Amino acid sequence: MTNLAKSKQSLQFKGVAASPGIAIGEVYLLDRQRVAVVEYEIEAEDISVETERFHAAIELSRQQLRDIQAQLSHHAQAEHFYIIDTQLMILDDQMLLSGTTQLISEQRINASGALKRVLRQFRQSFDCIEDEYLRERGSDIELVGERILRNIRGKVQQQITSLERKSIVVAHDLSPADTLQMDKKQIVGFVTDLGGRTSHTAILARSLGIPAVVGLENITDQVTSGTAIIIDGSSGIIILDPDSDTLQEYLEKKRRYEFYQQHLQTFCELPAQTIDGVKINLQANLELPDEAEMALVNGATGIGLLRTEFMYMSRSEPPSEQDQFEGYRSLVEKIAPHPVTIRTLDVGGDKFVADISLLDEANPAMGLRSIRLSLHEKTLFKIQLRAILRASAYGCVRLMFPMITGVAEVRACKEMLNQVKDELRGEDIAFDEQLAVGIMIETPSAVFLADLLAREVDFFSVGTNDLIQYCLAVDRGNEHVAYLYEPFHPTILRALKRVVDAARQAGIKACICGEMASEPMSSLVLLAMGYTELSMNSCGISRVKKLLRQWNAADGNELLEQLLQRSTATEVMNYLESAMRHHFPDAQVDLDF
Ligand code: PEP
Ligand code: MG
Repeated sequence: MTNLAKSKQSLQFKGVAASPGIAIGEVYLLDRQRVAVVEYEIEAEDISVETERFHAAIELSRQQLRDIQAQLSHHAQAEHFYIIDTQLMILDDQMLLSGTTQLISEQRINASGALKRVLRQFRQSFDCIEDEYLRERGSDIELVGERILRNIRGKVQQQITSLERKSIVVAHDLSPADTLQMDKKQIVGFVTDLGGRTSHTAILARSLGIPAVVGLENITDQVTSGTAIIIDGSSGIIILDPDSDTLQEYLEKKRRYEFYQQHLQTFCELPAQTIDGVKINLQANLELPDEAEMALVNGATGIGLLRTEFMYMSRSEPPSEQDQFEGYRSLVEKIAPHPVTIRTLDVGGDKFVADISLLDEANPAMGLRSIRLSLHEKTLFKIQLRAILRASAYGCVRLMFPMITGVAEVRACKEMLNQVKDELRGEDIAFDEQLAVGIMIETPSAVFLADLLAREVDFFSVGTNDLIQYCLAVDRGNEHVAYLYEPFHPTILRALKRVVDAARQAGIKACICGEMASEPMSSLVLLAMGYTELSMNSCGISRVKKLLRQWNAADGNELLEQLLQRSTATEVMNYLESAMRHHFPDAQVDLDF
């Protein structure tokens, strides 16, 4: 957290912008601070008492979570059940249970101290996971751990079921259970010490349309309930005790933002088409199949990326073929007749995937991850392919393999796919014989080989998040080199152009599913290159559509030619920004772009 400005009246901090919008209100400080734990040695005769305390706390935690689930069964957000399921599964985790009881009995450590040690080990393993989404799942363990610790100590959990006035909840971390139980009419924003862009608080805040700023490190130490607060979920700024000028400024920003959101609604049902008639397919990226509704409401014409990782996250062992099939099938049926692009597992490792043995890799970003892991863990891969193929009988499915680096890898995937198809045919199980098979272009190697790869598959989907990371050798999650993470770097423009040209020559489709697709200015550049299918967070669709509808695709040729001649990312940006100001003199610069 950065303390940006300090005046007599107000304090300003910068965190991670997790869910856009402005909220103004009073702090409701949720006491979810860690329970202070003192570790001490116990007498031998107290071992059974401490073990019993631990087991009783586990049982009580299980009961509490089930009660929350029962309360939620009539709740509008009941689809978020899976999150509580994850927490219930953590309570059954053998490492947690036997790890703690062993420390109690073998090292004679008190129950809270023993549990705290085990939680610390869990936390360390999660912190090493390179994938941001998976790393964030470590917070589930922390939340469950806090619950058990409170129950060992006999502390009552503070609940926020009813609030008397509009409040902004400030917490160390928010459990999904907390979020779901809240009175949404009174809660206008979330602020947390922990969390990143893909933490549960961020995901849920976005899906609830509530502004949120996360990752502020120690904001809970700076506020008390009742403190006046402004949060700007679009920029990640929060202001405590704002003076009247600041308050007026943000009231105006809030009014503009809300007006703009209403205005964007009018674009949801309109076609995504430029002035000169070029149609663009704007699709949604989903992390959870439950987000399908939101994708459709926002006017998505399909799912360009289903990140299937979530299915492997919320259970203590890999999901069965039937579970996966049912999940994919219900999504495919909801989205039909539009396509659903299902990406096979894209993780480097997951503690909860019992059958995958993780390597302790020095450089996990370049290690046994993603498609490499699937090709290594063939049984797991086959189960997923069977489930996807079976779901393909119920709508339009496209299958996609992540992090491809060469032709041999694609052929190995296709060979596996053919084996699975033969098995299904032998079992008389229906699937789409025409199922489109594509790959993600996320590595420099795939860019260089795009012409050869294009002969092997039906489509490309460019994952710009990883492509930028690997092309520019910049860790996408490392704030120290964030200044080098430049989507408009000439290397990236050339790579993107090369890929779409190779696709065009081979007569296959090329789409974009990285974050670049959701930036309105980038979308115009991508369109100029020839990308007519862009997949993004559902909330970004209307904003991109609005700009595209005011654009002449024919003007893109000259723009692109100019951009490709610039030598640095700054030169590209400068040219692009001045071209945009020229083309869209009426645009609201901070909102439309
Ligand atoms: C990407 O890398 O751009 C992408 C869409 O995949 P992920 O963000 O899941 O790595
Ligand atoms: Mg990726």
